[in-house]
Amino acid sequence: MAAATEPHTRLEAVREQVRQACARVGRDPAQVRLIGVSKTRDADEVITAVRCGLSDLGENYAQELVAKAQAVAAAGLTPRWHFLGGLQTNKVRLLVPVVTGIQSVDRPSLIDELARRADPGSPIEVFIEVNVGDESQKAGCAPADTADLCRRVLAVPALRLAGLMCVPPVDDDPEASRPYFRFLREHRDSLRRDLRLHEETLAGLSMGMSGDFQAAIEEGATTVRVGTLLFGPRPPRIVEP
Ligand SMILES: *Cc1c(COP(=O)(O)O)cnc(C)c1O
Repeated sequence: MAAATEPHTRLEAVREQVRQACARVGRDPAQVRLIGVSKTRDADEVITAVRCGLSDLGENYAQELVAKAQAVAAAGLTPRWHFLGGLQTNKVRLLVPVVTGIQSVDRPSLIDELARRADPGSPIEVFIEVNVGDESQKAGCAPADTADLCRRVLAVPALRLAGLMCVPPVDDDPEASRPYFRFLREHRDSLRRDLRLHEETLAGLSMGMSGDFQAAIEEGATTVRVGTLLFGPRPPRIVEP
């Protein structure tokens, strides 16, 4: 039955590609977290994927994440949820009780709101999103602003500074993303040095999507965010003006 086996086959295929990319550069696949990006997919598809062994899910819209997380929890499943999209400060309150992490933190007002809402008893993983391609239509801070944002996150006990995230300019060739991935890794390394960070703080690199996650792993990604390859092509979303 295709419906029962397909998601499992897709997940295994992606995991195999993760292993192969790790093998090429001598990395341990256990050090790469696979987030299944489930935006636009319905809760049943997510439930199937979680039953196949997917443990991390990513979403771009706050209400969509919260509704899906509730439906998945009602099925007795508790994957980790990660927020990846453009975030309005008034949505932080909805997300905080539900998410493990927010990967699209790119401005001080968002950190202030997270500081107000987050619970020090269960700190939220924060990734600072960096606009690596200097694209005006994209989210993410300028590289020059990253250090200040990191310091602000470090000052909040209820937040854990987990790493940097990027979405490079769209390109069909995965090799086109590689210089951006390398830039993000070097940027993280220099921030860790300048801010004298140790161990797990700012150790993460969330980079790589369906088209380029293998290149991202070769360049040091610790989290890859894969939608299409796991869930199939997405129906087009109506984009708000
Ligand atoms: C949609 C999305 C992804 C997944 O994209 P695919 O190409 O479908 O794998 C990853 N990261 C972010 C931030 C996204 O918005």
